[in-house]
Amino acid sequence: MTPAHVVVIGGGFAGLRTAVSLADAGIRVTVLEARGSLGGRARSFADPATGEVVDNGQHLFLAGYEATLRFLKRLGTQDRLIFQDRLSVVFVEPGGRVSRLDCPPLPAPWHLAAGVAGLSSLSLADKWKFMRVLKAVSREEDGQTVEEWLTRQGQSEGSRRIFWDPLTIATLNEIPSRASASGLRAVLRVLLKGPWPKARLGMPKVGLSDLYTEAARRIIEENGGEVRVNAPVAGLTLEGSRVRAARLANGSSLEAESVVSALPPQALNRLLPDGVRSSDPAFSNLDRFSSSPIVSVNLWLDRPVTKALFVGLIGTRFQWLFNKEAILKKAGIEARYVALILSAAQAYMDQPNDALAAMALEDLAACFPHLAAVRPIRSQVVRERDATVSLGVGMERFRPSARTRLENFFLAGDWTATGLPATIESAVLSGEECASQVISHLCPATLNRP
Ligand SMILES: Cc1cc2nc3c(=O)[nH]c(=O)nc-3n(C[C@H](O)[C@H](O)[C@H](O)COP(=O)(O)OP(=O)(O)OC[C@H]3O[C@@H](n4cnc5c(N)ncnc54)[C@H](O)[C@@H]3O)c2cc1C
Repeated sequence: MTPAHVVVIGGGFAGLRTAVSLADAGIRVTVLEARGSLGGRARSFADPATGEVVDNGQHLFLAGYEATLRFLKRLGTQDRLIFQDRLSVVFVEPGGRVSRLDCPPLPAPWHLAAGVAGLSSLSLADKWKFMRVLKAVSREEDGQTVEEWLTRQGQSEGSRRIFWDPLTIATLNEIPSRASASGLRAVLRVLLKGPWPKARLGMPKVGLSDLYTEAARRIIEENGGEVRVNAPVAGLTLEGSRVRAARLANGSSLEAESVVSALPPQALNRLLPDGVRSSDPAFSNLDRFSSSPIVSVNLWLDRPVTKALFVGLIGTRFQWLFNKEAILKKAGIEARYVALILSAAQAYMDQPNDALAAMALEDLAACFPHLAAVRPIRSQVVRERDATVSLGVGMERFRPSARTRLENFFLAGDWTATGLPATIESAVLSGEECASQVISHLCPATLNRP
C-alpha cells in the first residue's frame, strides 16, 4: 500500500495544522517552507547578542481558541501556554494612572459587563452605554468600520480611547477608522458567547516556535512525511484543471496527488501561473488584500519595570508591554528584557531602529515614572511588515474557502474564510478545514491505494 502524497506549501500555524491532520489520516505529507525555520509569522529565535529567546512579536491567545488548543493538545504542548485565572488587564497611562479591567467569574456576558463597570477610567455614562454594544453584537450589519459602528452604538470618544481602540488594534491589528466592524463583532462574540473561562488571556511561557513547530515536525516525520526548510516554492505546474507539481526555486519539482497553499495571499499570488487567476475568484481577488504591520521593540533595562506579566498602555504610541523576564521564568527560561508592541504600525515602519527604541523607552518612562532616568542596556527591533492582512470594510466576501476550482489545490491561512480575524485561531481553524477537504477529495479512491 502506498499512501497518498500531499505537498503543503508554508510552515506556519496553518500549514503545520494541515500537515499534522493529514499525517494523522495516514497521508504522506511534504511541507515546503521558504525560510530556514518553521513558524512563519509566529516564530521565535535566539537574540544574537544575549542568546535569549525572542519572539517575532508577542502573541496573545484566548482560552476560547478552541482549534488552537486542540492542535496543541495533539502536539502534547498545551501546557506550554499559561492562562489567567480570569480576564484581567491592567492599563497604565502617561503619568502613571492605573485602571484595571477585572472580570469576575460570572456567566457571559455579565463577566465582561461587571469588568467594564469596575473600570475606573470610564465615566458612569460610558459604562451604561457599553451595554448597548453587548446587545448589538449578534446583529450583523454590513459595510461599517469599527469607528462607525461604535458611534452608532453611542460609544463616546472617551470610551473609544480607553477601551475600544486598544481592543480593536490589539485584536484586528488595524485602526478603528479602517477595520471592519464585523471583525470586532467576531472578537466580542468569542469573549461573550462562551462561558466566562473562554475569555481568559494566555501566552506561551516558551519561545513561540517551541510551542508547536518541532512537535509538529516530529509527528509529520513519524508518519512517513518530510519537512523541508530553505525550500521556497517558485511556481505551480498545471495539467488541465489540476496542479501536477510544486516547482521549487532550486529548479526541482515535487509531484503530489494534492497541493495545499498555506501561504499569505501575496505569496500565493506570486506562485500562480498567469492563465489561472481569472478562472477563480479565490485567485482573481488576491490583489485586493493588503497588509497591516506590527513593530516590536525588546528592551534590556537596568531595573525592573513591573511585576505584572503584561500591561496595556493607553495614550502612548506602543500599546502593550510584556514582561518577558516574568513570562519565560514560568518555564525556567532566563531572560532579562521587556517587549513593547506597536500594532497597526503603518506610520512607523520606516523609522530607524534607534528612533523606534527611543520611542518605546519614552512611552515606558511616561507610564512608569520610576523609569525616568533609565538607560537601556540593549534594544532590538523586529518589524513585521505583513503581520496580518488588513480586513477593512467589504473584505470579508473576498476571503476564499479551502476548495478552489483547481480540483486538487486547496487553501489554508489565517486570511481565508474562517469568519474570524486574521489570528492564530483563524490559521489553525483553516488548517483543520483544509485537511478535511483534502481527505474527502483523496478518500476513499486514492487513500491507501494499492
Ligand atoms: C508581530 C505579530 C503579532 C501577532 N499577534 C497575534 C496575537 O497576539 N494573537 C493571534 O492570534 N495572532 C497574532 N498574530 C497573527 C498570527 O501570527 C498569524 O495569524 C498566524 O501566525 C498566521 O499563520 P499562517 O500559517 O496563516 O501564515 P504564516 O505564519 O505567514 O505562514 C506562511 C508560511 O509560508 C512561508 N512561505 C511564504 N512564501 C513561501 C514560498 N514561496 N514557498 C514556501 N514557503 C513560503 C512563510 O515563510 C511562512 O512560514 C500576530 C502576528 C504578528 C506578525
